[in-house]
Amino acid sequence: MPEMKPIHMVDVVGQYQKIKTEINEAALRVIGSGQYILGKEVSEFENEIAQYLNVNHGIGCASGTDALMVSMMALGIGQGDEVVTTPFTFAATTETIMLLGAKPIYVDIDPKTFNLDPSKMEAAITKKTKAIIPVHLYGQTVDMDPLVTAANQHNIPIIEDMCQAIGADYKGKKVGGIGTMGCISFFPSKNLGAFGDAGMVVTNDAALAEKLRMIVVHGSRVRYEHEIIGVNSRLDALQAAMLRVKLHYLDKWIEARRKAAMLYNCLFAGSDVVIPYEAPYGRHVFHQYTIRLKNRDQVAQYLSEKKIPYGIYYPISLHMQKAYSAAGKPKGTFPITESAIDEVLSLPMHTELDEEQQKFIVQSILDAMKK
Ligand SMILES: *Cc1c(COP(=O)(O)O)cnc(C)c1O
Repeated sequence: MPEMKPIHMVDVVGQYQKIKTEINEAALRVIGSGQYILGKEVSEFENEIAQYLNVNHGIGCASGTDALMVSMMALGIGQGDEVVTTPFTFAATTETIMLLGAKPIYVDIDPKTFNLDPSKMEAAITKKTKAIIPVHLYGQTVDMDPLVTAANQHNIPIIEDMCQAIGADYKGKKVGGIGTMGCISFFPSKNLGAFGDAGMVVTNDAALAEKLRMIVVHGSRVRYEHEIIGVNSRLDALQAAMLRVKLHYLDKWIEARRKAAMLYNCLFAGSDVVIPYEAPYGRHVFHQYTIRLKNRDQVAQYLSEKKIPYGIYYPISLHMQKAYSAAGKPKGTFPITESAIDEVLSLPMHTELDEEQQKFIVQSILDAMKK
């Protein structure tokens, strides 16, 4: 029997190998063109993403983190403002809110979806609330209808952090176009990953789109005329050209992820493992396949011994991070998040996984649980 292929958490090289000719051709086209900053590749890619998500505008920027930052800059968020968001996610949301001088106001999560619990949101809204940033974590959509209703009532814009959820939908509508703006990351390990850093903001609002376009190039519309304070956060032309190739495969790759997730679900059937919940209102794109286990650390230790990679996203809640202590809250403030942090375990998930690998991963977890 041939040996099993080594298991990777993500397999960016394996994916590249399959589309190598097209990717190389796109990269060489840009290198030969001399158009390295903005230009046709960037604007075409912006249009293609906008079309894919069914929104009017896409504004490329340098990363998902910058997408969040420039979105808030476009809304004029700054000192003294509050932004309602989740404590259970990557640091970028909290970091950019605080960088702009605003304060993150956390809302605990729903234990099944791991996303901000809309029923707890109303209590977090004050006169100072300038935006709500839900995060579609792991590729599962946030329950948007109650959020949109509350946001409209208070006239507060929603910025969707869809860094892990490009292509996911909510009640048949792609995420990104539900709120006022959507923020995308093309970090290499994301479902649509570049060969470096890249990001984008999408919106249906023409005035915000125009402002965003200025903010990402030093607040300028005409070169050397600066109308507002901006930053240098452009989407690299080389990345845009390669991402254009990959975008053609995204739906197929989402299907491959979903298929792998369904196989994991079947293999775990009848065990004590809490498999990912897929809410009836959304289509999960499985950026992560995240299970819950009471004895998570013991199982993780066993997986390390077996050389099976895994991830813990995220090991520290944002309300207890040192860097963000100005917005910190004591332990016990967000009990659902705090228990998730002790129990979540993300398994290898990518488009190149095979059945034999998945069976080995699941069997190893089941063995570890019996110990
Ligand atoms: C990856 C990610 C980001 C940041 O994206 P970068 O492109 O790495 O800056 C922000 N939010 C979430 C939820 C992410 O997963």
